[in-house]
Amino acid sequence: GGRDGLGAYIANPEAYPPNVVIYHNADFVAIYDMFPKSSLHLLLLPRDKTKYLLHPFEAFKDEEFLAKVKFEAQKLRSLAAGELRRKYGKYSALEQERQNALNADPPPDELPRGRDWDMEVMCGIHAVPSMNHLHVHVIAVDRYSDRLKSRNHYNSFATPFFVPIDDFPLSQDDPRISPTSSHYYLNQDFVCWRCGRNFGNKFTELKKHLEEEFVQWRQL
Ligand code: 5GP
Ligand code: ZN
Repeated sequence: GGRDGLGAYIANPEAYPPNVVIYHNADFVAIYDMFPKSSLHLLLLPRDKTKYLLHPFEAFKDEEFLAKVKFEAQKLRSLAAGELRRKYGKYSALEQERQNALNADPPPDELPRGRDWDMEVMCGIHAVPSMNHLHVHVIAVDRYSDRLKSRNHYNSFATPFFVPIDDFPLSQDDPRISPTSSHYYLNQDFVCWRCGRNFGNKFTELKKHLEEEFVQWRQL
């Protein structure tokens, strides 16, 4: 439990049902976040003992390790995108056309592209993680969840406090490395991830707006 709570999944992934541990292999465990901050929120846990207790800024200085994590994160991102497509894809006319084409006999040479749900999934880490074991968030962009209950919950995914995995390796003078700036990010005004509207410190209004944005976003 507590800050070491993610360790159990790494040590013993086979002990969990598929609604907790999504998959595991020799190097990684993919799980559902227990307190999701979006409509879909997964975590990728590297199992390398020499890395998993390091701060991500430290762990990702190893280029070979970073490459492995990036590759696996992209895999999990595609999996998450597929899940979003199944959940929301039916709302899109293009997606319907795509499904029809897929089911056609014979199928056409070229399928309609459909919505690229990979673009709706963010992969990255928190500049100051709260959990000790190294984890990459794989999270839908909507930030629509009952569990999103505080300033930090929102701003940790909506400001540079969230560092996309593809931004690594960071340069030594990257401002996101400084603890001072991470404090500043968390205390910024609430800014809608989708339309950029500023809600100051009005969390209730932000939450209401996030619901409206969610409904439009998933139907797009
Ligand atoms: P951090 O702020 O450290 O980057 O994020 C840690 C994440 O782990 C949070 O999103 C939190 O909801 C999630 N979390 C905390 N404890 C547990 C747990 O015991 N199980 C699972 N699956 N997720 C957890
Ligand atoms: Zn908005």
